[in-house]
Amino acid sequence: MSSSNAPPASASPSETQQVGVIRGNGIGPEITEAAQYVLEATGLPIEWIPIPIADEAFERHEHPLPPESVASLREVRVTLKAPLIVNKLQGRITCRQPDGSEMSYPSLNNAIRRELALFVNPRPIRGFPGISEKYEALDLVTMREITEDIYFGREHQIGDLAAEAVKRITREASLRVARYAFDYAAANGRRRVTCLHKANVLNMTDGLFLRCFHEVAAEFPDVEADDLMIDAACFHIIRSPERFDVVVCPNQYGDIFSDLAAGLAGSLGLAPGANIGPACAVFEASHGAAPDIAGKGLANPAALILSGALMLRHLGHADRADAVEEAVRSALAEPTLRTRDLGGPAGTMECARGIAERVRQPGGG
Ligand code: ATP
Repeated sequence: MSSSNAPPASASPSETQQVGVIRGNGIGPEITEAAQYVLEATGLPIEWIPIPIADEAFERHEHPLPPESVASLREVRVTLKAPLIVNKLQGRITCRQPDGSEMSYPSLNNAIRRELALFVNPRPIRGFPGISEKYEALDLVTMREITEDIYFGREHQIGDLAAEAVKRITREASLRVARYAFDYAAANGRRRVTCLHKANVLNMTDGLFLRCFHEVAAEFPDVEADDLMIDAACFHIIRSPERFDVVVCPNQYGDIFSDLAAGLAGSLGLAPGANIGPACAVFEASHGAAPDIAGKGLANPAALILSGALMLRHLGHADRADAVEEAVRSALAEPTLRTRDLGGPAGTMECARGIAERVRQPGGG
């Protein structure tokens, strides 16, 4: 994703581009191989820097996100990341800081985002002809705030009878994500930014997020701004998907709403994403590690490949990014290249090879 918040782009076509790679687990390794294959087909010389996270890191450093891996992520600045299996009930992770203090995070994914100061998770979703049926017109980008909200990670038990969680919303993070969304809309010819919230119930937290949104909206008179309750937004996206353009929301609503949009487009396997901060960026599919289909060569690699296209654009290679996106659309228009989640017969690499072939054709896809 490009934005004024992005790290400086290095657009020299001949220079080798260093990119971190987290192979993940579950379907991670197979879709990583597919995405690397397609990105290399663009002709951009890429040096992949493997960064051990989770099991691999544990074997070497007895920690799923050791300081060594965080340092590598910071140094390389731009990383392609496959999904990691999230332990549903015991995901908490503690990371040692350079000053010797410790930070505790609710999950490994959350820890990566927060250690790198990544603050927004843009998730673009477009309908695909022949796949998305009545949602072909879908073309929205959800800008999910990723540093706070109910995923902030402060939960406690009250004996065995209850548990509570803190929903943290700050003015600083709310203004920052709203500004990112409006900057993006203005720079990309998007007509409208919609804020999703539940400020009628959560007057203080979502109320603050909404007030910050309108404050920033006033700085962008050429971009239309409106807001919707999250429940109403779920209703409207089913009834009139074309109503949505750029959407900005607190962490949890963004997590859920973007999966809903991906489902309407046809599969979680079609939904790319980025995590952007002032110094670093991590590009990853919106879906999880899909352990139910892992290791079978069945996974749809499109979401990670499209995340790779976002990464190319972020690095200043817009022409190559366009070629990859067009190639994905053109390949998936061919029913024989669709993976099982899209009702097709293709395996992960077969689909990737079909995409890479189109990337290599003169004029891209
Ligand atoms: P998480 O909590 O990490 O998001 P999850 O199990 O809730 O994990 P996913 O791993 O995204 O969610 O999987 C949800 C469903 O979507 C599973 O049935 C999975 O097989 C399917 N799925 C997810 N990603 C893909 C993909 N790339 N290709 C095919 N099917 C996928």
